[in-house]
This record gives sequence, structure tokens and C-alpha cells, in this order.
Amino acid sequence: MYVFVRERLESESFIPEGRIFELLEKTKNPDPKRVREILRKSLEKNRLDPEETATLLNVEDEELLAEMFEAARKLKEEVYGNRIVLFAPLYIGNACVNDCVYCGFRSSNTLVQRITLTEEQIRREVEALISQGHKRLIVVYGEHPMYTPQFIAKTIEIVYDTKLGKGEIRRVNVNAAPQTVEGYKVIKSVGIGTFQIFQETYHKKTYLRLHPKGPKSNYNWRLYGLDRAMIAGIDDVGIGALFGLYDWKFEVMGLLYHTIHLEERFGVGPHTISFPRVKPALNTPYSLKPDHPVSDEDFKKVVAVIRLSVPYTGMILTAREPARLRDEVIKLGVSQIDAGSHIGIGSYSSRDEDEFKKSQFTLEDPRPLDLVMRSLLKEGFVPSFCTACYRAGRTGEHFMEVAIPGFVKNFCTPNALFTLQEYLCDYASEETRKVGEEVIGKELQKLPPRIREKVKEGLERIKRGERDVRF
Ligand code: SF4
Repeated sequence: MYVFVRERLESESFIPEGRIFELLEKTKNPDPKRVREILRKSLEKNRLDPEETATLLNVEDEELLAEMFEAARKLKEEVYGNRIVLFAPLYIGNACVNDCVYCGFRSSNTLVQRITLTEEQIRREVEALISQGHKRLIVVYGEHPMYTPQFIAKTIEIVYDTKLGKGEIRRVNVNAAPQTVEGYKVIKSVGIGTFQIFQETYHKKTYLRLHPKGPKSNYNWRLYGLDRAMIAGIDDVGIGALFGLYDWKFEVMGLLYHTIHLEERFGVGPHTISFPRVKPALNTPYSLKPDHPVSDEDFKKVVAVIRLSVPYTGMILTAREPARLRDEVIKLGVSQIDAGSHIGIGSYSSRDEDEFKKSQFTLEDPRPLDLVMRSLLKEGFVPSFCTACYRAGRTGEHFMEVAIPGFVKNFCTPNALFTLQEYLCDYASEETRKVGEEVIGKELQKLPPRIREKVKEGLERIKRGERDVRF
């Protein structure tokens, strides 16, 4: 009975395309008074409803745009403070049976080098990532019968099992094909953070055209992919859209309706939202001329409107984007970024000029982790490698601050400072260590005296050699 109900439910899309077009049309040339009303609601940390998000997407007036960006900056500061969580992608294998028109790994691309890392190669890659200072990874796989849930679980166990000096990977997120409920249970059993699936485009007709072959050509199987993950007990899920495939305003509305669907069905929305733009890929003409390219100016609106629409959802900005734009956009609501990333399979431990032939697309921010750390610190951000909540089993309630007011000050900020101190002690260049110690000093002054003393004590323990200190 339950399976029948679930299957009937999962045969119908929860993305109301007609309603989205109607709202985007109806809210054109929005009344400034209405826009300011919506910004106030968002600054009170309320998730926006579809008509409100559509209104913000239609803001063109320069003055109103400036107010919208300022509100997004303020909201990010109030909800996340100045912490930015850092991670790195680790591609495990690029065999794939799908033929996504925009992707370098598509099955019909005969010029791409097909590689699936062996256990030994995974260990080499993880050691290279640990020696940069990373603690959080996202492991990525193509979609292929050999990448079974058991294979994915095994590779994650190898990642956790690989240590180097005082370094280790403490949280592994996953970006892989949609699984069955049983498949997710196998992957969950080895201890993962977030399971990420991007719908790529929520516009069904465009989706079917750009995904002509393979299991990924099934729109609804993918759309309900994270429902099955949550049914299997994975309560930190990540959604995303690939901007450039269809109209960017429609995709932002799609992300909002996906969030609302998860909230209505499971009582909690996504842990993170990603908003990558199509980037050039090897021998992939579509990637050089996507149907709906998104300008930098519109990309900033994408980030600000998502932030204002879902105040408590993590937002991930990757190294697909150039450093100059990342530095600007990060202030508009981003909570997580990758750094020191190499997406050519096997390229962390053995660099060669063929990296592009082993990559899914191009990265435009090749800065090493230490440089990104220094740039964040100089901007007054606190780079964090925190994994405390996930390892303390504090998952699902996608923002602890909702459940426990003051959580950020009592847990998130101290834990961020502890992981920053570890990085400064074990991996930072002299220049980065100097800026980092200054930032820690400033952040300590912002903490209430009782917590400040406990944090100072923790920082001293780390300087004396202890690791993994956390609240
Ligand atoms: S986007 Fe993913 S599923 Fe599609 S071809 Fe590329 S690797 Fe395969």
C-alpha cells in the first residue's frame, strides 16, 4: 500500500511549471513598496513563498537591486556570521552510461580519459588533500553499473580510513546518481554527510531534450531521488540546478518548489543548495554555447534571491567561478566554498598536462587552499572545516540555530576557530598563519566572556598538539 502510494506520488512532478510562468509574468515591474515588504519578511528569517521569490527575481530597478543585495548580505551575516565552510571535491570515477549533452563525461564523448580510481589511488588522492589541510570532501561518481551502493560505500570507507600525520578527512558528502531506498541505506551505513543530486534543469521538456539516453533520462526518478534518500534515513540532502540550460528565473523557482516539497513531505528542507553555471568541457560543443547563458550580473541576483528565499539553507559556490566573482558573490549569501580543487581524476597526487582530458568541465578558480584561506581571512571571514554537528549526530534539523537559539555563538563559531587553529598549526604558510592568528584574536573578543575562556583553553590545547577539539 505504502509503496503503491509512493510510486503514484512519484509518477507526478511536484514542479508546477504553469504556476511558475504565471507568477514570473504576474510579478513583472514589481512595486517598490511590495519589494521592501518582502525584504523585511526575509530579514525576519522567514522562508519566502513562490510569489515573493518571483517578485524579487523580477527586480530590475538599480536602487531596489542595491537594497536587495544589501539585505542578502545582512541576512547571511545574521544567520551564518562570518564563517565560510571549506571543502574539496574528489572524483572517484567517470565511467557513465548517460549522455547529458553539456557534460564532458557523457557516454558518447570518446575523447575523455575514462578512469576509476583503485583503492591505492584513492589513498594517494586523500593523502594529497589532507596535506593541503582539508577535512571535508565531496566524493563524485558518474552513473554506471559498476558504481553500486556497495562500491560507493567501500570508497568512502577508504577515504575515512586514510590518515596522514595529524590529518584526516572527517566528513564525506556524496554527489552520485539517484539510488533505491535500499541503496541509500548501504551508503548511509558508512557514515556520510550530505547526499547531493542536482536536477540540472527543472523544466521537463528541456530536461528530456538534454538527457536523451540512460537512466538519467527519467525526469521523475531523479526528481524524487532525494525523497528516497530521506526515506532511507539520510536527512542531510543537497539540491541544485545547472544554470545555463534553461531560464535562470525558472530554475530558482524550481529550487524553491523543491525546498517546499521536502519541507511538506519530511518536515525539513535541503541542507544545501548549489547553483553551478555551465562551463566549457572537453569535446562538448553545447558547453561552449549553452541555450540560456547566465551573465555575471544575473548570477549575482541568483545568489541573492536564493539567500533571501531560504534563509537557513546552506549555499555552495564552487571553483567553477573565477576568483574575482567568487570574492564578490560570497558576501551575498554563500556559506560553503571549495578550494585547492582538482577535478581531473587522480590529479591531486599526480598532476599532468592531461588534467582537462580527465575533467568533467573547467574550473576557473585554481587558487590553492592556502591562498583562498588568506584571501578569506583578509576579508574578515572565518574559514571553517567544522564537522562537529554531523559527528555528534546533530543532523536533519538543517539549522541548529532554529532548534537552539544561540547555537552559532556557543558551537559553530568556537568549532570554526578550533578547525582554523588546527590549519594554522599544521598546514598554513607563514603569511596565512599571521593573518589567521589576528582573525582568531578579533573573533575571541566578540565572544561572551564565559565562552571566550573555554575557547581560549581549546585553542591552547590545539597549540600543544591535541587535535579534533570541538564542542
Ligand atoms: S552529468 Fe553526470 S550523469 Fe550526465 S553524463 Fe555527466 S557524469 Fe554522466
